[in-house]
Amino acid sequence: MVGAGFAGLTAARTLRRSGKSVVVLEARDRVGGRVWTQQLADGTPVDRGGAWLAPGRDEAFTLAGELGVSTYRTWSEGFHLLIEEERIHRYRGLIPKISPPTVISIALAQLRIDLTAKRVPLEAPWSARRAGAWDAQTVASWLERSGIRTTIGQNLFEMALQGLFATDLAEVSLLDLLFLVRAHGSTTTLFSVEGGSQENLIEGGAGTIARRMADDLGDGLVLDAPVRSITEQAGGIVVRSDGVAVQAADVVVAVPPALALKIFFEPDLSPERRRLYEQAVAGKETKTVVIYDEPFWRAEGLSGQSAGPGSPAEVTIDASPSHGGHGALASFTFGPVAQRLEALDPDERRSALLRELVGRFGPKAKSPLELVETAWWNEPWTLGCSMAHFPPGVLTRSGPLLREPFGRVHWAGTETATTSHGAIDGAIRSGLRAAAAILGDDAPTPPAGAPEKRTPS
Ligand SMILES: Cc1cc2nc3c(=O)[nH]c(=O)nc-3n(C[C@H](O)[C@H](O)[C@H](O)COP(=O)(O)OP(=O)(O)OC[C@H]3O[C@@H](n4cnc5c(N)ncnc54)[C@H](O)[C@@H]3O)c2cc1C
Repeated sequence: MVGAGFAGLTAARTLRRSGKSVVVLEARDRVGGRVWTQQLADGTPVDRGGAWLAPGRDEAFTLAGELGVSTYRTWSEGFHLLIEEERIHRYRGLIPKISPPTVISIALAQLRIDLTAKRVPLEAPWSARRAGAWDAQTVASWLERSGIRTTIGQNLFEMALQGLFATDLAEVSLLDLLFLVRAHGSTTTLFSVEGGSQENLIEGGAGTIARRMADDLGDGLVLDAPVRSITEQAGGIVVRSDGVAVQAADVVVAVPPALALKIFFEPDLSPERRRLYEQAVAGKETKTVVIYDEPFWRAEGLSGQSAGPGSPAEVTIDASPSHGGHGALASFTFGPVAQRLEALDPDERRSALLRELVGRFGPKAKSPLELVETAWWNEPWTLGCSMAHFPPGVLTRSGPLLREPFGRVHWAGTETATTSHGAIDGAIRSGLRAAAAILGDDAPTPPAGAPEKRTPS
């Protein structure tokens, strides 16, 4: 197994439970990948990456249940805030009451996307009747024709979509957006806290699930072991990391597409697969969790949810731990905005963010206990977030390769998922699929996962 994110860990867990011997090689000194829970000095968990689970994401909830991990509802009582230049709109529900024509035009745009997405086959979006036409357009060009009224309406909707891909929408195929919406049910699900993708947090942080899966692997997990090469030869596959070589019958590569390109394959990947991975780049997103001694905004009738397109806190959500104590606001910037802020020095960036939060939540926002910032595209073993996106033409040309095995090499990772594509639940599902493919393979196999040589890395 290459990679101990949710996909790799789930595949390993499933194979082990079926009696297979498994070795997981992980490049980092921790498990979880894009899920990264850091404990503050007082034990408060902070999710620096993936954190939320939508209702109905059954595989994630099942896994959490099996591992004895519980979930709790994200706080969403009170008013949400929309910042429009100097004005602050307070609202409840999904769409701010900017002006009736704007609200209606946003709702109609969402409906059009949702209805069109229903025509995209989940398992093979490239086979939709109009796939070619949709894959020839970008999300940005669709947005220009979306009919959304007023600049604030357009900015808001653009930011919501940028929150999904964390990149300039001129780089994303419309088919990719439709597929993502199909994979999650609707735009409302993707954008919402209540009833949507941000509804549930994980007790102790999402990393608890990864750590519990890792505990079960014992010495079948090797950290600080970046896989450098995968060589198929008579009798099996040899997977080499620095100082570790594993002989296996099958290998599951559960890393983001851009990272697969950093592994040397023998025989080499086909040019078409290489091109797919080169083009499936992930966006730029910074998540900053701002910790306060208490969630003070709640007492002031605010939910903690706010949106300020183009600002140093484009989206905020209450991410406080469930049991009293500290308050946490998770703040996000996406694509071009994240990049612009990255050019500031860290103190300037911190001041800009806190100024923004004071403007929304009042003077108490000025003095956090801690501020935990992660610019995910600078993480060498992730290279962007929250998932890879597909520019025009890529899904229709090479999409089927995403899950197609390469000899005895199987592919997992949220980018290969259908349901819950791009999310934690999708990563888990991809791990289950890859494991099932190996278990269902009737070909005679030599003993799996027998380490050839293992020395400290
Ligand atoms: C800021 C942010 C917020 C997010 N929010 C949410 C959310 O709220 N809810 C949600 O459902 N999803 C969210 N996501 C997405 C979610 O975290 C991912 O979909 C999921 O964690 C991906 O899991 P994975 O196993 O497919 O990949 P990864 O987590 O990327 O795991 C891949 C692993 O492979 C390792 N690796 C890479 N190359 C090598 C190599 N050569 N050798 C060995 N190991 C290697 C990496 O170190 C990593 O551990 C978020 C992501 C980010 C970044």
